[in-house]
Amino acid sequence: MPHDWVNYKSLRAELSFIDILHHYGAELKERGEQWQGFCPLPTHQGKRNSPSFSANVGKGIWQCFGCGAKGNVIEFATRMERLNPENPDDFRRTALLLQKMFVGKDGGEREVPRPGPKEVTRERSGQEDLDEERPGSVVNAPLDFELQRLDYDHPYLRERGFTDEIIKTFGLGYCERGLMKGRIAIPLHDAKGALIGYAGRIVDEEAIGENTPRYLFPGSRERNGTRHVFRKSAFLYNGFRLENPFQLVVVESFTGVWWLTQAGITNVVALMGASCSEAQAGLLRDLVPEDGSVWVFPDGDTAGKRMAEEALVMLAPHRFVRWVKLPEDKQPTDVKLAELHTLLTALL
Ligand SMILES: [Zn+2]
Repeated sequence: MPHDWVNYKSLRAELSFIDILHHYGAELKERGEQWQGFCPLPTHQGKRNSPSFSANVGKGIWQCFGCGAKGNVIEFATRMERLNPENPDDFRRTALLLQKMFVGKDGGEREVPRPGPKEVTRERSGQEDLDEERPGSVVNAPLDFELQRLDYDHPYLRERGFTDEIIKTFGLGYCERGLMKGRIAIPLHDAKGALIGYAGRIVDEEAIGENTPRYLFPGSRERNGTRHVFRKSAFLYNGFRLENPFQLVVVESFTGVWWLTQAGITNVVALMGASCSEAQAGLLRDLVPEDGSVWVFPDGDTAGKRMAEEALVMLAPHRFVRWVKLPEDKQPTDVKLAELHTLLTALL
């Protein structure tokens, strides 16, 4: 099947309107299936001082009483891309973009560009820059350079109890220059093991602020006329090391993956945040055999609870899935290695 093939009807059935609303930053109030708020459309005419926009997240339809626009999920995304949904070409380009970003199965058929000359990437804030993501962007494609001269002897991770072996296995080095300066560089690999970018964990907690997030994720970069973007929501950290694990543990953070691995529990991936997207749920399904099982192991807080609920809803119809609960405000890394082993191997 060519990579640019798209069936609108089945695509609409597979897309989660909630994921798409989140993706485009639409801030709506949840009221059951009917979500409401200010009109997020760039084409909206008139004032935005009343909640004129409503979306039925179950049916995947929406309308705005202010500007009169309405339509389905793909039409919504087309308008958010500042394209015209009446134009079949624009509509199709948006559908392909959504398929690429949100439908996990497409992962293996993604267009991979030829690497260009060496160039420094523009690592940016963790905020994914929506304006830069036009149809035709390439998502999570291999990187054509590696960060050089990382300091693998930096004390930060060792002081947090990680061994040399873990630091080496995950390629974690401190970066002293460039946009990753002051951060531990965390290499991100796609399912085939190709390096697609780096996340950066800040070392100086006190420096964290509005423009200095704890974690920095790859920004977009231009290569031979093609825009490359990184989508956390279409990626599983550490997924590339695992070959159809019969049991898989899913944690929120990078550190959770390292900690479990250090405890000898190596079948572990991270969602890199407290949410599980449809695309990530698809990747989890692809990874674990049909008779296998998934242990969702989030942090013990409200966000973790929500992540577990999201994951359970999406995975339960397809795989045996279980929620490993931690006490309030505890993270997997707060559990002692030996106890972690007892906690999880009791289930495995
Ligand atoms: Zn409107």
